[in-house]
Amino acid sequence: MTIFDKPFTQQEPIDEATIARVGDILRTGRLHRYNTVPGEVSEAAALEAEYAKWQGADYALACASGGYALAVALKAAGLKVGDPVLANAYTLAPVPGAIHNAGGVPVFVEIDEEWHIDIADLEAKAASSGAKFLMLSHMRGHIADMDAVGDICERYGITMVEDCAHTMGAHWRGKRSGNFGHVAAFSLQTYKHINTGEGGLLTTNDPQIAARATIMSGSYMLYGSHGAGPDEAAFDGIRTATPNYSGRMDNLRAAIARGQLVGLDEKVERWNRLYRALDTGLRKSNAITTPVRRDHEHYVGSSLQFRPALDASQFPDFITACAKRGVDVKWFGANKPTAFTSRYDSWEYLGEPQDLPQTRNVLSNTCDIRVPLTFDEADCAVIGSIIVDECSRATGHV
Ligand SMILES: *Cc1c(COP(=O)(O)O)cnc(C)c1O
Repeated sequence: MTIFDKPFTQQEPIDEATIARVGDILRTGRLHRYNTVPGEVSEAAALEAEYAKWQGADYALACASGGYALAVALKAAGLKVGDPVLANAYTLAPVPGAIHNAGGVPVFVEIDEEWHIDIADLEAKAASSGAKFLMLSHMRGHIADMDAVGDICERYGITMVEDCAHTMGAHWRGKRSGNFGHVAAFSLQTYKHINTGEGGLLTTNDPQIAARATIMSGSYMLYGSHGAGPDEAAFDGIRTATPNYSGRMDNLRAAIARGQLVGLDEKVERWNRLYRALDTGLRKSNAITTPVRRDHEHYVGSSLQFRPALDASQFPDFITACAKRGVDVKWFGANKPTAFTSRYDSWEYLGEPQDLPQTRNVLSNTCDIRVPLTFDEADCAVIGSIIVDECSRATGHV
């Protein structure tokens, strides 16, 4: 029986040029983004300038985490305590956490079979809740019909915040994910497309949102030294009317991010080659369904979702059997959240769970697998064959 022996949580090493750069910064002792000598551009400011350019956004703000960027995005966009926020029910725990942290009240929206926000339910809940904010998670890289989402937001006067934790580098109809809404947040947490351990970026084309987010991130009155911030005029009337929610990025992490931004587009292509190799392997089984990716969606295949034709009762054994052979499959149908698979009904602090039968149904047979860049195409073929094998064993169809 083939056993796969590479870890699913191993990242690529940080390149030597970045390590040298980090060493240089350490030797200066100036790790804080506002600690510069005359004429010096801090590493955090340089990252902002480069990221804004790469993303095609007017403004970028480097901060402490993706979740922090999401909370600040909502607040900077004008969310008030108690305001309802529409959010797809399938997302990761930092997203409802960010809404809660910003004082908002999530109103969960169903997802469709392909893990996108459900357009009909979005419209229904936009109408019934009167929410003026949408936190749109492109969860696991699945980008919804952005024409339809944008149309609903426009008709209901809704401010769209995009959670691009899984879509940094992805496009929809040629436009980069993150450039559809009013403001977007990206995560640099270790399993995301840029790995700085922890970290986040916020982008927007709105100078007022950018100015408020900058002050909130903890800029004191040093916002003039930012790398991709709005003009001084945008800060008029905001400077002292905006609280400091301290959550800046430091220069070390900024240096690590800059080193990875350079090769990001090439990495996306590598991720997609691995994704396709794994997808091809899984499609050899009639008992496994993988997503049909739409032509106009240029995704980043850093994870793959699939559905084995199993009963709920068969899933735990299937997951265990895969794990025994070294293949780390996550299942979103379990009633108790394990590792990263928390579900909308596990966020008890939000009060009475909202009922989302369609989402529960879609997640009941959703499996998820990480595709780290330390794998190669041959690894993906092995992983695919192990999953296919264990799936046929579990269903009894060989
Ligand atoms: C990782 C993640 C975040 C938040 O990122 P952190 O940097 O860990 O705070 C938000 N949304 C999704 C879907 C994520 O996976």
